[in-house]
Amino acid sequence: MPVPALGLLTYRVPADQPMPSAGARVMVLVGPRTMTGVVLGEAAAADTAYTIKPITQVVDDHAFVPPDIVKLTEWVSEYYLAGPGATLAAALPPHGLTARTDRFKTVRVAALTAAGLDMADRLAAHSAVPAEGPRLGRRQAEALRLLQGSPDGLTAPVLADRGIASAAVNALTALGLVAIRHDRVDRDPFEHAVSAAAPHVDRAATDEQQAALDRLLPMAHARSFGVALIHGVTGSGKTEVYLRLAEAVRTSGRGVLMLVPEIALTPQVAALFRARFGEAVAIQHSGLSDGERHDQWHRIRRGDVDVVIGTRSAVFAPLARPGLVIVDEEHDTSYKQDETPRYHGRDVAIMRGKFASALVVLGSATPTMESYTNALEGKYTLVSLNRRVLDRPLPGVSVINMREEMAATGEDAVLSRRLIAGIGARLDRGEQSLILLNRRGFATAVICRQCSATIECPNCSISLTIHKHGAHWHGRCHYCNFLKPVPKTCEKCAAPYMERVGFGTERVEAEVRRLFPSARVARVDRDTVRRKGSLVQTLARVARREVDILIGTQMIAKGHDFPEVTLVGVISADVGLGLADFRSNERTFQLLTQVAGRAGRGTRRGEAIIQSLLPNHYAITLACTQDYRQFYDTEVKYRRAMRYPPHVAMVNVVVRGQTFEDAMQGARSLAGEARNARGFALLGPAPAPLTRLRGEHRAQFFLKGTNRRVMREALQLALSRKASLGKRVSVDVDPLSML
Ligand code: ADP
Ligand code: ZN
Repeated sequence: MPVPALGLLTYRVPADQPMPSAGARVMVLVGPRTMTGVVLGEAAAADTAYTIKPITQVVDDHAFVPPDIVKLTEWVSEYYLAGPGATLAAALPPHGLTARTDRFKTVRVAALTAAGLDMADRLAAHSAVPAEGPRLGRRQAEALRLLQGSPDGLTAPVLADRGIASAAVNALTALGLVAIRHDRVDRDPFEHAVSAAAPHVDRAATDEQQAALDRLLPMAHARSFGVALIHGVTGSGKTEVYLRLAEAVRTSGRGVLMLVPEIALTPQVAALFRARFGEAVAIQHSGLSDGERHDQWHRIRRGDVDVVIGTRSAVFAPLARPGLVIVDEEHDTSYKQDETPRYHGRDVAIMRGKFASALVVLGSATPTMESYTNALEGKYTLVSLNRRVLDRPLPGVSVINMREEMAATGEDAVLSRRLIAGIGARLDRGEQSLILLNRRGFATAVICRQCSATIECPNCSISLTIHKHGAHWHGRCHYCNFLKPVPKTCEKCAAPYMERVGFGTERVEAEVRRLFPSARVARVDRDTVRRKGSLVQTLARVARREVDILIGTQMIAKGHDFPEVTLVGVISADVGLGLADFRSNERTFQLLTQVAGRAGRGTRRGEAIIQSLLPNHYAITLACTQDYRQFYDTEVKYRRAMRYPPHVAMVNVVVRGQTFEDAMQGARSLAGEARNARGFALLGPAPAPLTRLRGEHRAQFFLKGTNRRVMREALQLALSRKASLGKRVSVDVDPLSML
């Protein structure tokens, strides 16, 4: 049942009915409510302490959710300690279970009846309205003529296009000359499609691409489970390798599933697949409405689709016989769902491949520590693409020490002299620049110069980020969206000395516009892309070279392929370093390597300029040399020494409460139960780094160990003993965020 936290429920099959198929939907009573759920299988033995209610109604006479997807969700539910119903609901399109009948968009189709055909024939013979029979208007006669040529009928939009309104059709229907039927239409998901499809070019694979294919194709054809990690530097042409693999697998009669972090950010990949496979591709992107997702799910379920491209949840697409599962940019954190079930799309993709005896391909220029370790340990096949296609050079990267820069030009320098000169040179040459600052807003905070107070979110333990709206200054909480005007005087001491400190993308945009007033500037961050479609539009403008300078957060670092970008600037490259997160080095290295990789992808060599207050940090220096292996070797030592993943596995448990004491008390009692088990370390409980979030207090503890099963079972037992904590607990297995 799609009810949070509940385990499996048992119902009785009425004596006169057959056992419903696993995967079929049924309607049952949950408390006083009738709800739709999915049959998982026969219960081993009924617990006679309860009265077992009968199934109210069986909705499907065969599996609605395919058995392999049911099995996959069962695995997710167990591995991530999430309710089976909530997991199943996450695997289906929105309202997938609650929709009793499949809601499809239909279109009115008008076709001639026998009498209508007769009349049309007579009209044709007389070329004027015949004397006998009903008198028809000019439009009506015209409609009959049109319909005569289309025995299957014409849709209302087509008729309207030819100037025939529904009134004319209705009149003909009333005369018995036309019959109306309603045909189901699959909404075309490409209505709001991703950028213009790239022209299909049949080019030869590079030597490295060919070498990669020589290793991967036999794995795909083996029809047994295997995982390959493609470590390919930015611009090495990984997409072409995916395409050729996909083609081979599809030709062999099996399906292809490809996960991407966010289609709007990498429209080219989807467009290339679309160009190569046409209608056989389903592309799931964030622009789709619920109804469109629904239609697409059914299209895939019916077997109309061979290739599915989508974000995280597409891993559950009901594609039959997957033979290849690709996870592009496998390092991307958007693969992790941050609400229950807190699954990692890449790891679920691997299980999907395992259940389907398929090849799983993970690709990245900056693989996660986890995946690269698995590759080095021989669990995955490692395939490397070390050069850019056509021997294009990697960009030259240099670091600007911002301490020295500020000493020379003043404390509030945002862009260094070197970066300003670089942008100016690109403008002169008609080339494009990207500027990354992974922090949105205008200023990081306002602070009282007299008492050092900042303005805090009333709901969260975080200070408000300052945004400029026209002439007004606002503080906004980036966690709960709380918004209020920035006060003129300090709320604590009433002193009139509120000062803005730190800066974000809005400030960079203001600086760039001031320095280059005639340049065409665009900004991409979560504030600018709230409006649906605006991200796609901005990126399309960049691709059409209608933008000279694109400013943005990590969104602009993803897999874009803009050949005219020859300069990438990074402001405050150390933003993420020093956060209370053991992955901050890895994240910084990935972000800098990826964004630098956006430069010089065309025929001209690229350059990246990285500004930092910590120019000697290894995450920054190694991103400059773009030396992944050196970074991995350095980082893995630190992880091992600190006993962090991938050396150990972790589970993060957060307990919420109305007061801090409530939260701590709950965490203590749960942790106390878990401590009864052995085989792992338990750290905490302690206040969570975000002690307050959306009005709730939070305490957390961690489990650390090498055996996930042991940790899972200990937690499961603890949770069942402390069932009263119920909804106040969130469990995150393999957490990506420590907050
Ligand atoms: P990656 O994803 O590895 O960063 P892409 O797949 O985006 O790299 O490819 C980089 C660029 O190289 C793209 O513009 C792509 O069209 C081009 N490319 C890829 N393979 C070839 C090839 N075999 N011949 C010519 N150009 C290629
Ligand atoms: Zn808040």
